[in-house]
Amino acid sequence: MTDRDCIFCKIAAGEIPSATVYEDADFRVILDLGPASRGHALILPKNHYKDLCELDESVAARVLPLAGKLGAAMKRALGCAGFNVVQNNGTAAGQTVFHFHVHVIPRYEGGPEMVAWKPGKADPEELAAVSSSIQKELEL
Ligand code: AMP
Ligand code: ZN
Repeated sequence: MTDRDCIFCKIAAGEIPSATVYEDADFRVILDLGPASRGHALILPKNHYKDLCELDESVAARVLPLAGKLGAAMKRALGCAGFNVVQNNGTAAGQTVFHFHVHVIPRYEGGPEMVAWKPGKADPEELAAVSSSIQKELEL
């Protein structure tokens, strides 16, 4: 289940060299070539899934534990004070490579700054309406 035109399929398969942090039968973890901070890593499944909506559940079940272990290793190895786990789906959300991946981004005291959203104001009626419309479409 790979895509011949997908750069992350090629990197995950080892056909294109990368700074690999970890590899097993299902995943390769590499360092990002455009790092947001020192140690910025990407978790790549070896199979091709366009985004989170396509991701196999058994692969998904391994992703967060792996991200947590990577973050803990980053704290010990790099001295970061924390880390962000980021995962973009769709162009509107900032996804640029359409092979599912998870960013694990070390955060250091004193920066660099990351993009953050400005909290809006919630209206209770709007919250109820939005919650109900999502609930109707939720397929579990
Ligand atoms: P996203 O915007 O969530 O799709 O993230 C794509 C990420 O992949 C960006 O942070 C890029 O810097 C990174 N990236 C793109 N091509 C490569 C590559 N060949 N090796 C490592 N990282 C890459
Ligand atoms: Zn791919």
